Amino acid sequence: MIPILAPLEANLRAAAKALAAGELVAFPTETVYGLGASAGDALALARVFEVKRRPFFDPLIVHVSSPADLSDICGTVPDLAARLMEKFWPGPLTLVLPKSDRIPDLATSGLPTVAVRMPAHPVALELIRLAGPLAAPSANPFGRLSPTSAPHVQDAFAGGIAMILDGGPCSVGVESTILSLEGETPVLLRRGGLSREDIEAVIGPIALGASVADLPQAPGQLAGHYAPRTPLRLLKSAGGRGKFTGPGRFGLLAFRGVDISGSGAPAVIEVLSPTGDLREAAARLFSCLHRLDRAGLDGIEAESVPENGLGAAIMDRLRKAEAGSGPNPEGV
Ligand code: AMP
Ligand code: MG
Repeated sequence: MIPILAPLEANLRAAAKALAAGELVAFPTETVYGLGASAGDALALARVFEVKRRPFFDPLIVHVSSPADLSDICGTVPDLAARLMEKFWPGPLTLVLPKSDRIPDLATSGLPTVAVRMPAHPVALELIRLAGPLAAPSANPFGRLSPTSAPHVQDAFAGGIAMILDGGPCSVGVESTILSLEGETPVLLRRGGLSREDIEAVIGPIALGASVADLPQAPGQLAGHYAPRTPLRLLKSAGGRGKFTGPGRFGLLAFRGVDISGSGAPAVIEVLSPTGDLREAAARLFSCLHRLDRAGLDGIEAESVPENGLGAAIMDRLRKAEAGSGPNPEGV
């Protein structure tokens, strides 16, 4: 089993040493647990793709401990990026910026840009200070449920990772919002832990990237991602529950309250937020899904949540989970 270590100074130093030797270290952030490799080490980056079984065309996010780290990573930092960093870093906002030569092409899948983020987690920041910038995707096999606790990481991999630093459960619980500042106007590439509304309050209207704009219309077209092994069906209306149609036992991922009158009662119920708080719902999303996925169910029904604020990021994950759920997700 991959060891889980408390985030003591000695363990952080051991982790930094392992990273310097080209090994991988899983570490906590406020969004999800990351699988870190030294950002300038092409061989270590190749290991990240190998261990996660992630396709090489899917670029990594480089994690920094301060905006000053960008001088080695990015070509130029536009004023708009500086404003956003000032306002939202550390935090769940990833910026896509022109890349410098120091970052191996493997990290960016050959793109002329690099995605960068400063995580709001003391363990992540201290590790990056000791080890330097870390390229880190989520610490889960490609396409599967994201890890929001150290045991989620341990359960997902047989080996290939030197250690898992334990920072407790993730406070945000969904991946970072990704904003491209490559062109003249900012473009939202992925919904995540910072809401579109919060960004627009600072810089005005932002455009939606093609995959983000298509989401609500065409969930069936998506490659599966964030997917449980148990088949998952997304119920259309917020708060409403459909009839489970498959045979056997099913579980319910409820948004707030649960009305179990009517059709057959679910064997297991997980409630995202009894008070209907979307932040709490986002923070609990993956841990609820992990529990449902391990409950030996034949199916999972997930209620829709309102699509404002962090609800948009939650619905993005649930739509992709529906598209990819089952033993062989489309995304792999
Ligand atoms: P994650 O899988 O959470 O580590 O996030 C990585 C995602 O960031 C990728 O799947 C891309 O969608 C996005 N990304 C990373 N680098 C770039 C880039 N240079 N340009 C556009 N998107 C990027
Ligand atoms: Mg991921």
